[in-house]
Formats: sequence, structure tokens, C-alpha cells
Amino acid sequence: MFQNQNPRRPVAEPITAYRFWVVRAEDGMLFSHNSAPWPVTGIQATCTVHVQTPANDHTCGIYAAKELTWLYQHYKWMLGTPDLGPYVIGKVRLWGHVIVATDGYRAEWAEPYLLYYTKQYYDKIRKAALLYSTLLEPLAPPDLGPSEEELRRARAEAMRERRAETRALNAAIIAELQRRRQARAKETD
Ligand SMILES: [Zn+2]
Repeated sequence: MFQNQNPRRPVAEPITAYRFWVVRAEDGMLFSHNSAPWPVTGIQATCTVHVQTPANDHTCGIYAAKELTWLYQHYKWMLGTPDLGPYVIGKVRLWGHVIVATDGYRAEWAEPYLLYYTKQYYDKIRKAALLYSTLLEPLAPPDLGPSEEELRRARAEAMRERRAETRALNAAIIAELQRRRQARAKETD
């Protein structure tokens, strides 16, 4: 899902993308999933192998997703997992050398640009927004479409409706047949 589409290249304009962080409760400091802290001045990718990051045939670089929906689909479970600590989803700006992949990017530099708060972690996320001078917006879960359960229920409901229609139609046909039979019976009287 993060396979290279383009070789590593410097970008003139920062790219806006999406990612998630862990928020430190005391001061709002943001951390990557691998517990690397994000300096308020922006984070630069480091690699134990390469001096120039991100490298084409490696996993190094600061990761970010192209679409909020994609990120949300893959990581929304973390938002509601208290054991993992307060998670926050937000927008990042990427610059320096950036590798464009199918669903995201690997960048040399990144900084948070906007944080989406949830009711649960509002205070902590607000602290982070102040610390990094980012915008702050409520997390509006993207429309992921109906779930399997919702689809199953809708199909069952449609089936019930069709059966009810069929029953009503059959009842109408039977009533009409009876009416005709009675009419014929009267004619022969
Ligand atoms: Zn590397």
C-alpha cells in the first residue's frame, strides 16, 4: 500500500496529507506510533542506513496518507482504544524530498498543520494544537458507506417488503377470483 509510484524527488510546495499521533497528556507533545517525538519546529526523517531520506528501496521517511478516509478506515480503532493512550488524527504538511506512493507519502520533513479533536481527548488535543500552533477542528468521521451489518439488515428488510407485497398481491388475486366465481354463480341462478 505504500509502494513507490515516483522516485524520491524534492517538492517545491508542501504537500498536505493525513496521519495520526499519540498525544502526551501533560504538555500536548505529539509522538509517532514508534514513539519518536515530533519537535515543534518540524520533524526530519532519519534512517540508520541512509543519509538522504527517504530512500527509494527502503521504508524510511515520515509517513502520511493521501486520504482521510483511508487513514480513518485503517486506524479508527486506535481512537477508541484507551490502553494505547490518546490518539489524534490530523493534517500534516510534507516537504523536502517526498516519495509518492499509492495511498500515501514518505517525506523528508513534516509538521502538523491541523488537529481533529474528539470529545474524549479534547483537552489533550487542544494542548497539542497550542503547542504546535495548528488549526483545531472536530473530527467528523468520513462517510465510509454502510457497514456489512447495515447491508445485511437492508437486504432482509427488502426481502420482507417483497414478501409482504407478494402476499398482498396474492390476496387481491384470490379476492378477485372469488368475486368472479360468486358473479358466475349468480348468473347461473
Ligand atoms: Zn532508509
